[in-house]
Amino acid sequence: MKFWDLLYPPRCPLCGEILSLKEGKVHQACYRKLLRVREPLCKRCGKPLTPGAGEQREWCMDCLRSRHRHGKSFDQGRVLWLYSGDIQKSILDYKYKGMKSYTDFYAEEAVNRWGRWIRSKNPQMLIPVPLHPRKKRIRGYNQAELLAKSIGKRMEIPVGTDVLYRKRWTEPQKAVSGQERRHNLAKSMEIRHLPENLRRVLLIDDIYTTGSTMEACAGILKKNGVEEVCFLALCIGYGNG
Ligand SMILES: [Zn+2]
Ligand SMILES: [Zn+2]
Repeated sequence: MKFWDLLYPPRCPLCGEILSLKEGKVHQACYRKLLRVREPLCKRCGKPLTPGAGEQREWCMDCLRSRHRHGKSFDQGRVLWLYSGDIQKSILDYKYKGMKSYTDFYAEEAVNRWGRWIRSKNPQMLIPVPLHPRKKRIRGYNQAELLAKSIGKRMEIPVGTDVLYRKRWTEPQKAVSGQERRHNLAKSMEIRHLPENLRRVLLIDDIYTTGSTMEACAGILKKNGVEEVCFLALCIGYGNG
């Protein structure tokens, strides 16, 4: 055991309890409860499709609805888990309670599950979805950036933390329409330092919901010459994000 572990004993990244030495990096019981996304997945955003209603389609409703915008948006994405149960609290603690130590677990899981898919997309750079600087100052870090760095290190892919910039304070906009929200988000994304010849990018974030944020990031990248934009997110949530 390292000295550091005595000061900050490792916690289960799912339930937050302190782990005993023999329990390793995560409680097996907590791990088994994780809700992994299962096929069939939306061919575009990676969200599980809900068969039943005689659905034979390959895309989810959100992607179908937004298909007229696809050329200017992301090309494909993958997620690991449904945003429900323990992982919900885990991610909230990760973002708001300083549990940066969960990064390793998340990144390892991301690479195990989607490493081959990431390779097949051959991104030249991983780009974390930016936080507004004020939010970043309050939290002290951008969780998407921690994730991107950890995944990038494991897969030896460069990480660009100063490519995208979020310039406006965007409050959660529950009241405004989807279209307005997209418009506001798009206006809030800015390119800071675009590496030359950047053609293929993988965006990284913790949660993907309706895709508006991802669309805004992808939109500005494509406007600036990036040809293929994919994303990887830990969780798929449902609602207004
Ligand atoms: Zn646990
Ligand atoms: Zn979709």
